Amino acid sequence: MNKFKELVNYCLNCPVKPCTKGCPLKNDIPNFIKLAKEENFLKAFSVLSETTVLSSICGRICPFERQCEGNCVRRLKGEPVQIGYIESVIGDRAIKDNYPLFDTMEEFKGKTVAVVGAGPAGLTCASFLKKLGYNVTIYEKYDYVGGIISHGIPDFRLDKKICDQTFKRILDLGIEVKFNKELGVDISLKELKKNYDAVFLGFGANKSKIPNIKGKNLCNVYGANEFLESKQKLDLNGKNVIVVGGGDTAMDMARVAKHWGANVLVVYRGDEKRMKASNCEIVNAKNENIEILFNTNVKQIIQNKDVYKAYLMTNDGYKFIYPCDYVFFAIGAKTDEKITKKLGIKLDMDGYIKTDKRQMTSISGVFAGGDLIKEKNTVAYASVSGRNAAYNIDNYLKKFDKKSN
Ligand SMILES: Cc1cc2nc3c(=O)[nH]c(=O)nc-3n(C[C@H](O)[C@H](O)[C@H](O)COP(=O)(O)OP(=O)(O)OC[C@H]3O[C@@H](n4cnc5c(N)ncnc54)[C@H](O)[C@@H]3O)c2cc1C
Ligand code: SF4
Repeated sequence: MNKFKELVNYCLNCPVKPCTKGCPLKNDIPNFIKLAKEENFLKAFSVLSETTVLSSICGRICPFERQCEGNCVRRLKGEPVQIGYIESVIGDRAIKDNYPLFDTMEEFKGKTVAVVGAGPAGLTCASFLKKLGYNVTIYEKYDYVGGIISHGIPDFRLDKKICDQTFKRILDLGIEVKFNKELGVDISLKELKKNYDAVFLGFGANKSKIPNIKGKNLCNVYGANEFLESKQKLDLNGKNVIVVGGGDTAMDMARVAKHWGANVLVVYRGDEKRMKASNCEIVNAKNENIEILFNTNVKQIIQNKDVYKAYLMTNDGYKFIYPCDYVFFAIGAKTDEKITKKLGIKLDMDGYIKTDKRQMTSISGVFAGGDLIKEKNTVAYASVSGRNAAYNIDNYLKKFDKKSN
C-alpha cells in the first residue's frame, strides 16, 4: 500500500481538472484520487460510480496516454500520475469489499427497455437505465456477456476474473439477460419495439475490413476481429504468420499468434508514429520479438498446395515475397451489414447506424451507441455512449409520458 500512497500523493488535485477533460467518461479524477489519499475508498468508488461501471476494466486497458494521463499536468515536467492504475485499485477494492455499484437507485418507473448487445456500451446503458428506475432486458447473441472485453482482448492482457466479477455486479442490479438471442436472426427489431417502451442498440462493429486483393478468400487468410471473436485455437508452432495493421487489434493478434508459437511479422502501411495501438502494446509486442515492417503493404497472397506466399510492397515501390502459413488482417472493423441492413434504420455511407444528438436512430424510441455508431473504438468511448443514451432514453420516456397525458 506504501507504493499506492506514493502514487496518489503525486497528484496535485488541480482545480481545473485537465485529466478529467481527457477522460471520455469525464470521471472526476482529482476528487477520487483525493479521497484515495484520505483512504476513503468507499467514497472514492462512489465518485467513480457517478460516471462509470467499468472502473476495474478501464483502469487496466484504456489508452491512458491518449486520454486522462495524456492531459495530466505532471507530464509537463516528468511522468503523469498513474491514473489508470489508481482507478483499478479503487475498482478492485469495491469488488473485494462489495461496495454498492450505485449509491442510490430510483424507484421503478413502470417502463421497460430492451438493450441489444452486452458489450461495454450495452452493459453501461443497462446499468444506468436500471439506476434511473427502468426494467432492463439485454438480448445477447452469445452465452456470455462483455463483448470484445470477453472475446477480443486476450487473457494475458486483461484478467478475466476481474471482468467476470465486474459483470456479475452489473447484472446483480437486477438486469435480465436473454442469452443466445441474435437480433435479426432470433428476434426482430419490430418485436422489441412492440414489447418494450424503448430500445438501445449496442451490438458493436466487429467485422474485419479485408482489402480487395488476390488471395483474400484463401483458407488461411483471416479477419483478426472475427478470428479472435470465434475463440478458435490454431497450432501455430513454428509457423510464419503475417499480421496486417497497426492498431490494438493488430498488436493483440500478433501477440496471440506469438504465444501460440508462431514467428510473427506485423506489416503496417505507415510509420511508427502513425500506429494507433497504445504505446505500451507496441512495446510489449517488440519485447516479445515481434518484428514490425513499417511503410509496407500486402499486395496479394498466393497458395500453392500447402505453401502460402505474401507479395509485399514498400511505400516507395520495393517489391518482395514473404513465405507465410497464415495471414490475419487487422486494418479496421465495420458493422455486420447482414444485420444492420435488415433493421430498416438509416445507415451512414460506411454502414454505421445514424443517430441524432440524442443518439436516437431514424426510428422513434430506438437509440444506439458504441462502435455501432462509429464511436472512437475504445471501451471508455463505448461506455460513455451507453451511459449518455440511458439519460437520453430517460428524457425521451418522460417527454413521451407528458405528451400522452
Ligand atoms: C482485439 C481488440 C482489442 C481491443 N483493445 C482495446 C483496449 O485495449 N482498450 C480499449 O479501450 N479498447 C480496445 N478495443 C476496442 C473496444 O473493445 C471496443 O471499442 C468496445 O468493446 C466496443 O464496445 P461495444 O459495446 O460498442 O461493442 P462490442 O464490445 O463489440 O459488444 C457488442 C456486443 O453485442 C453482441 N452482438 C453482436 N451482434 C449482435 C446481435 N445481432 N444481436 C445481439 N447481440 C449481438 C456481441 O456478442 C457483443 O457482446 C479493442 C478491440 C479489439 C477488437
Ligand atoms: S492533471 Fe494530473 S496532477 Fe492534476 S489533478 Fe489530474 S491527475 Fe492529478
